Amino acid sequence: MDKWQQRAYEKKKAREKQLRRRLTIAGGVAVALVASVIFAVIPHEPSVSSTSGQVAAGAATTEQAGAVYYADGTGGSASENGAAAADVSDTASSDTSVAVATDSAAQPAAATATPVPTATPAPTATPVPTETPAPAVPDRSDFAVDPNNQNWNYDQTAEKTVYLTFDDGPSYLTPQVLDILDSYGIKATFFVTAQNPDYFGLIKEAYDRGNTIALHSYTHEYDQIYASVDAFFEDLDQIAAVVQEQIGYVPCFIRFPGGASNGVSRHYCEGIMTALSQEVQARGYQYWDWNAATGDGESVTTEESIANALSAESQTIVLLCHDGELKETTVEALPAIIEGFQERGYVFKPIDRTSTVVHHEIFN
Ligand code: ZN
Repeated sequence: MDKWQQRAYEKKKAREKQLRRRLTIAGGVAVALVASVIFAVIPHEPSVSSTSGQVAAGAATTEQAGAVYYADGTGGSASENGAAAADVSDTASSDTSVAVATDSAAQPAAATATPVPTATPAPTATPVPTETPAPAVPDRSDFAVDPNNQNWNYDQTAEKTVYLTFDDGPSYLTPQVLDILDSYGIKATFFVTAQNPDYFGLIKEAYDRGNTIALHSYTHEYDQIYASVDAFFEDLDQIAAVVQEQIGYVPCFIRFPGGASNGVSRHYCEGIMTALSQEVQARGYQYWDWNAATGDGESVTTEESIANALSAESQTIVLLCHDGELKETTVEALPAIIEGFQERGYVFKPIDRTSTVVHHEIFN
């Protein structure tokens, strides 16, 4: 289940719980009424009125608790989505005039809540788009590798677009990259490796936050992966298994270590990039090279990284960055790179099956 779907589901559960409480309270009140009618006919006993008083007080408390629970349930996720509305109910319920505030706030909720339990038993898809307007998770239902889906786009994007791509992670730097992306409300693509198994959980984290996960390499050792076609796919299958465990499927997007244009592979296997570029597509993958780079693969300063990135001028830019170990430069340069492109009218997108495929010339 997606994070957003999970939240929608939790919200629904909270609402149902609230409704159950209300029904219990209503039942309690009805019992109290019947009791007081019975005891009104029968001679008075002081303890009776105090009992019904306790019921009423109990109801009020439960009402508050229910309302608070509801406010928290929605508030938690809504505020993370940038919606401010939840804060209002939060402050209302923590106000000194709790009973009145939550009661009046709760009334319309109770009225609208009634149809909810009868609503669709599938708590998954439907509520998501309506309740989380800001960071809509892209449709990724066709991202799995599929030899029968060879529908690739080689045309430039209609609007000026930057595809930020991060290679060699996840690492201790990945959370910072994710936070920067989130702070600008943009998504990117992560071509992952298995170099830091401690950080595998960040593959799921990045995915849940709306980014695209793509395959790079398990070992990233050129002499191993480019020893033969079989050796390459052995490595690819290994990183595919890691990713599948994190996000539930094997994505179709890949990037060759060193890019398809790398010449280093010639030392290990003559013509292997020519063979691989065709074979990966035959197996349902598509490889993405890049047409711009921060240059953080080598040792460059933050300023140089920014300048390198912003020197790109294509309508469609696939920008190579790294979030592997020791790439602090990327993290430091990222905000300025994002703002620089935004000022020039670019939008940022994660790679999907409609994205512009960028291929290098192959030399081996
Ligand atoms: Zn790499």
